[in-house]
Amino acid sequence: MISMTRLRDDETARAIGRALLAWYVLHRRELPWRQSLDPYAVWVSEMMLQQTQVATVIPYFERWMQRFPDVATLAAAAESDVLHAWQGLGYYSRARNLQRAATRMVEHHDGRVPASINALRALPGIGPYSAGAIASIAYGQAEPLVDGNVNRVLSRLFALRGDPNRAPLKAAIWDYARALVSAAERAPGDFNQALMELGATVCTPRAPRCTSCPLAALCQAKKLDLVEQLPELPARAKATPVHMVAVVATRNACVLVGRLKADAPRWAGMWLFPNAEVKSGQTPEAAVRDVLFRTAGLRGSPSSIVCVVRHSVTRFRITLDAYRTLEPSGVARALSVAEIAWKSPMDLAALAMPAAHRIIAERVLSDSAGAGGS
Ligand code: SF4
Repeated sequence: MISMTRLRDDETARAIGRALLAWYVLHRRELPWRQSLDPYAVWVSEMMLQQTQVATVIPYFERWMQRFPDVATLAAAAESDVLHAWQGLGYYSRARNLQRAATRMVEHHDGRVPASINALRALPGIGPYSAGAIASIAYGQAEPLVDGNVNRVLSRLFALRGDPNRAPLKAAIWDYARALVSAAERAPGDFNQALMELGATVCTPRAPRCTSCPLAALCQAKKLDLVEQLPELPARAKATPVHMVAVVATRNACVLVGRLKADAPRWAGMWLFPNAEVKSGQTPEAAVRDVLFRTAGLRGSPSSIVCVVRHSVTRFRITLDAYRTLEPSGVARALSVAEIAWKSPMDLAALAMPAAHRIIAERVLSDSAGAGGS
């Protein structure tokens, strides 16, 4: 293993920087957020890329930049528009934090993304990784960043034992990342992106392509035959299956949806069909009746299945059965939600909905178009 002391004043750090930057020039992927160093674009892309694949982010990023091209536009937008632009990306607190941070930038930073690490860290949703990314990529500062890709590359490159997400290795990896970016002779932003790019495309979790790696000659894990064993991440918790129902209540060619309260633990402010987990010993039909009454004070029974949506939220593997309930009785009231509304299937498109409910809405729209055409 190469010690930190050695790395700080050793040619090794400079050699890593040179090899990585030369490789990056030839192999970097052309991504829309790499076409400029606009700090706002860098910030938006970094927030979108957290927990999300590059291919998924590209169309979201392009639409977002058209809709909210700068800090001031984002700060002034309605929250419902921001959530609508984010729908399907998941982890919606990222969208809310983007807007909160934009408001602070307007109030305290002349409507600009600040350059200093401390000012960045004081903004909602910007942690050490994002601050390092913005400072280095947009402002050319020799600030480190560590994400899952960097954890993996550095654990292998320096044959670091232990869990890189926990002390003491977590702090050590940040030290390595800082020493490396400080030694990169030019473009710390490019160096940081190169490190992440290597992790995403060459030093992958499974079957890393060591024979194509620009760092192969310097890699301690390769030398010690530890590549498959590093990084030492804990085994993933098994996914927990969850059975849920959603209710597509229909009346006068409209369907019932509710907007969640601002303090809802998940999907706050977004629109959903009434939904609930099917409790142990409960039938799906009973769960439908129960949630329709608790959400909107309506009484009705399921008549048919609209669709079944399978998706995952954190460690839960959810099967969501959407049931149609025709002409429920009573006057709809917002009991457990902020707002309840009857919407035509066409109007559902304008609402911000989480991905699973968007799938149901699209199915409702196609069913209604089919019924209208028959
Ligand atoms: S040689 Fe292999 S393990 Fe080492 S950094 Fe390169 S891809 Fe990763």
